[in-house]
Amino acid sequence: MKIWLDGGLQDIESARVSVFDHGLTVGDGIFETVKVTDGRAFALTRHLARLTRSAQGLGLPDPDLDEVRRACAAVIEANPMPLGRLRITYTGGHGPLGSDRGEHGPTLVVALGETARRPDSTAVITVPWTRNERGALTGLKTTSYAENVVALARAHQHGGSEALFANTVGQLCEGTGSNVFVVLDGEIHTPPLASGCLAGITRELVVEWTGAQETDLPLDVLQRADEIFLTSTLRDVQAVHRVDERELPGAPGPVTAKAMRVFDERSGQDQDP
Ligand code: PLP
Repeated sequence: MKIWLDGGLQDIESARVSVFDHGLTVGDGIFETVKVTDGRAFALTRHLARLTRSAQGLGLPDPDLDEVRRACAAVIEANPMPLGRLRITYTGGHGPLGSDRGEHGPTLVVALGETARRPDSTAVITVPWTRNERGALTGLKTTSYAENVVALARAHQHGGSEALFANTVGQLCEGTGSNVFVVLDGEIHTPPLASGCLAGITRELVVEWTGAQETDLPLDVLQRADEIFLTSTLRDVQAVHRVDERELPGAPGPVTAKAMRVFDERSGQDQDP
């Protein structure tokens, strides 16, 4: 397995970053996960635009997108696989202990792991912890994911594959690694970015391709929505068949099934929509 580090391909067994890299010591980093199907990275331009926005939000230097593209292409070519998750990690780099950034430039790592297609439907839970819709990191895809790790572990304990957060004013926000959509009276709705959710690339495409509306939604909409689905790079569009104690028999329902079809067709036509 080859990864990209320090400007070139390296064997994963021998590739090393500093133990004082701020991505490790203080979570000062950003990332992207990109789906790779048969050697092609899906929606890479949108992912790279978000990488730049996250860097700017964190005050990191803008990533050199030509290098990132070269790195992605080299890693994909070196590690052929039918379905992969390409991980781009970009951190504050090697610095002093503590939170001040050092003199060293950022660290860029690009790696590829094999993955499997997700099932068409899944179970989710809600968690009692809130997403802060007005924090310094809101909307940035940072490596500070410990809160998501804790929430996801709780979902797994309850037989689910995702945990959904409300924000501090009780509105539905997002999952640990996905955006959430609900169907009400045949219309598709998803929380607006002001809810504090990440600007998911899959969310953006589903809004464009299905005409879903961005709507403030209370958390308890999950108890009455006709259908619920998640979106993310690795899930694509995935129906929810259970949320907490509520079963949604027959998931994916008709509106979700149509959104799944539209997403499959459109994403198959254009690798970099
Ligand atoms: N929300 C969070 C917190 C995420 O980490 C992710 C993806 O990892 C998403 C939403 C979905 O975003 P995308 O569709 O770009 O994968």
